[in-house]
Amino acid sequence: MPAPCSACGASPAALRRPKTGHALCRACFLAAFEEETHQAIVAGRLFRPGETVAIGASGGKDSTVLAHLLQLLDQRHSYGLHLLLLSVDEGIAGYRDASLAAVRRHQRRSGLPLHVVSYRQLYGWSMDRIARHLGPRNNCTFCGVFRRQALDRGALLMGADKIATGHNADDVAETVLMNFLRGDVGRLRRGVGTGPAGGEGAVPRCKPLRHAYEKEIVLYAYFQGLDYFSTECVYAPQAYRGYARALLKELEAVRPSAVADLGHSGERLSLRSDLRMPARGTCQRCGYVASQPLCKACVLLEGLDRGLPKLGIGKHRRLRDKLRDGEPLTQEERRRLGAPAEGEPPEEQEPRGELGTDEEPWGRRELRGPQDLDF
Ligand code: SF4
Ligand code: ZN
Repeated sequence: MPAPCSACGASPAALRRPKTGHALCRACFLAAFEEETHQAIVAGRLFRPGETVAIGASGGKDSTVLAHLLQLLDQRHSYGLHLLLLSVDEGIAGYRDASLAAVRRHQRRSGLPLHVVSYRQLYGWSMDRIARHLGPRNNCTFCGVFRRQALDRGALLMGADKIATGHNADDVAETVLMNFLRGDVGRLRRGVGTGPAGGEGAVPRCKPLRHAYEKEIVLYAYFQGLDYFSTECVYAPQAYRGYARALLKELEAVRPSAVADLGHSGERLSLRSDLRMPARGTCQRCGYVASQPLCKACVLLEGLDRGLPKLGIGKHRRLRDKLRDGEPLTQEERRRLGAPAEGEPPEEQEPRGELGTDEEPWGRRELRGPQDLDF
């Protein structure tokens, strides 16, 4: 006989909450989870009445729960929001096509408008094609940089004031760990709060589920009967985040509060005030936010378009300088930048779609001269 729910005392408990250890029935768990999300939205002042909010919808559990909750809480508490679904199609066969089908099913049920932006349209490169050039490693570096811009571009096209993402407490803890391990002071300083913050992009972002444990999001989706896609991306096993995740799981096994503790550490972290941070400017080629003459996406694309996919990753400053100065690279230098071996056929170009034109907020322009290569 299960113990009674510790909140209502009437129904039998259906679960023990990972976050608090309380034994709760289904209805009390759902009510507690929804109320906590509402409190996080209110306390963080995440939204203002009348705002248009683009929900980053991947079809996975986090963004599906987020979209469900925002629609429900907007009605329950009269936030006065215009909610939209915004998806990014990275072009990963067997993964994103299936998860986008889950987003479309959610769109039909919820009635929320949906807009999909794809890497092929925006950049002329799908992730599958990038991976064919690059090999198994570093794909997430490209994908992460491209996704950030893609979400901003999509949000601007839809007239959104804000982007809400489904990042949860585990994601945030992993990010804090990764940034520590990489010594990435810039990202540590930008912080891990609920938002909203301008951050690196052009449209302010917020994370309403930032304090929600991943396990509780899964439980919420299960008890609500939400339909989501749960297969891992084919490129994920090579991702550095995977190691941070494995480490976090080990820490959590010996100290259950490790997830919340790491997120808290990230929030409380203070860095020396005299640390110089990169100045925020705009990319000379595409107009996106950048701290260098070219934004990171344009640097990565430059490498891809030149057949040197590793040009924008790793420590290749000397080789980048050579290219900028018009000096030819040796075969060995080209190989270090990921050029195909001699005799290997070049990849076929994928046609670029409608979005990459000069009418768009950040239409890609051709190189105007060597000064554009000053990355
Ligand atoms: Fe992109 Fe990497 Fe995520 Fe796959 S695992 S969707 S390649 S960031
Ligand atoms: Zn750019």
